[in-house]
Amino acid sequence: MIPRKWSNRRFLVQLAAFLLLVVTPLLNFYAHWTFLQGWYQSFGIGDLWIVSPLEGLESLLITREPFGPLLVSVLPPIFLALMLGRVFCSWACPISFLSELSDRILNLFRRSKSPRKDVWKLAKQILWVALGLELAASLMLGAPIFVFLSPPGLVGRELMMWIFFRTLALEGVIIVVVLLLNLITRRFYCRYLCPLGGLLAFIGRWRHMRIHRDTGKPHCGACDQACPMGIRPSQDEGQSAYCWNCGTCVDTCPHGQLKFRWYVESRPSAG
Ligand code: SF4
Ligand code: SF4
Repeated sequence: MIPRKWSNRRFLVQLAAFLLLVVTPLLNFYAHWTFLQGWYQSFGIGDLWIVSPLEGLESLLITREPFGPLLVSVLPPIFLALMLGRVFCSWACPISFLSELSDRILNLFRRSKSPRKDVWKLAKQILWVALGLELAASLMLGAPIFVFLSPPGLVGRELMMWIFFRTLALEGVIIVVVLLLNLITRRFYCRYLCPLGGLLAFIGRWRHMRIHRDTGKPHCGACDQACPMGIRPSQDEGQSAYCWNCGTCVDTCPHGQLKFRWYVESRPSAG
């Protein structure tokens, strides 16, 4: 069996990121310790606030007034996406963690160890449409829709609500729907519908860290079946905007054909 080096590392990082979402409100509520605050829409570490770039962009579009502290707060995730790509999605987002966790649980009951087949494969470009529609709707309604209804944000908000008020918001049902969609197509929401994922993928077109394929080695296509985003690393789609640098294909290739590579020169990728 091929060791799942990157997949296991990533799962541990996802778990740590999720535990941070649990521990932060627990510390706020029971110990009145507020050095850490919020969740991954807007997370405070002391005086430093890190804000999701999509929420920042929505606010900017609606208010049309650049607000200095907000612009500074969105810089860390933008910088991360420019360097490493959409790794917030694959390595830290709570929706990604819950999807991975449910996959691992489902796999315990499956006879076949090969990756699940995707029932619906839609055009990858739908992701850009979802991003455009969300921004247009926010502009038209004059309200930051994603702040209220983003599935990754809802996970943090539901945890906070449970710890503070022992109740859950109705919007939490969106999280359940997103996870159920994974049964039809792996990472359906992340592949096609998440505006935050779309924005990070767009910024990540200029990323330095990419999946490199060694063309001198044999090709069997195992990586294409394994890719949770439904792209084909065997055709160099690991270089495209749709790759979120999860490393699953690197783990899967029996010929050692794929690896992460740091590209010094930043050039926009296809997609
Ligand atoms: S696409 Fe959206 S829901 Fe999926 S991992 Fe990225 S931020 Fe989270
Ligand atoms: S190409 Fe590889 S690293 Fe990129 S999303 Fe697919 S499996 Fe993950």
